[in-house]
Amino acid sequence: MATNITWHQSHISRADRESLLNQRGVTIWFTGLSGSGKSTIATALERELHANKISTYILDGDNIRHGLCSDLGFGPGDRQENIRRIGEVCNLFTDAGLIVLAAFVSPYREDRDKVRLLLDGNGESNPDNGKRKNFIEVYVQADVETCEQRDPKGLYAKAKAGEIKNFTGISAPFEEPEKAELVLKTSENSVDECVSELMTHLKEGGYLS
Ligand code: ADP
Repeated sequence: MATNITWHQSHISRADRESLLNQRGVTIWFTGLSGSGKSTIATALERELHANKISTYILDGDNIRHGLCSDLGFGPGDRQENIRRIGEVCNLFTDAGLIVLAAFVSPYREDRDKVRLLLDGNGESNPDNGKRKNFIEVYVQADVETCEQRDPKGLYAKAKAGEIKNFTGISAPFEEPEKAELVLKTSENSVDECVSELMTHLKEGGYLS
């Protein structure tokens, strides 16, 4: 643990940054099985937001594991640390005024709830007195059979062959969200329909000016 450290307060506030960007920061957290469609939907949503002149940043599972979390594996402790670090990054980017699209299997409810707590606390730190949240949990829902059929990265085949240990849905658990702000059923709805549901949620929630 580091000692003798003091928080240094900047002269520019989150509200100043948001007013410069003319938008409101928020983290949209996509959780779901591998192959459920998190990355596909996050990238499609990013394109739509970008076309609407909104500054975004995608944090995606594999990309983060190349750098920030390259020292971590897939056991429960490492998965927990992975999400903790990503949550801290989401908190910083949201404070910078960006719309953060975070696409991570994030199988443990407790880990996701910790990120929610970090970003939203009990709401008092939110710029508009907690009316709009900083953390929107989106459950990208598809059953394991569908994900296995899609198997976009061939990971289910490897997991079934015993080549990947601790594979969510096969040999490791996925704890479904109980209070997701949005559930997208990707075996029933197209990518475009899911993006449009997200855009409606953001507009109705007052996230897009
Ligand atoms: P994840 O990021 O959750 O691991 P990916 O986005 O990498 O999943 O892969 C999802 C796969 O499912 C892609 O091949 C995508 O084209 C396909 N797919 C089919 N229908 C949908 C849908 N409605 N939403 C998202 N992806 C879909």
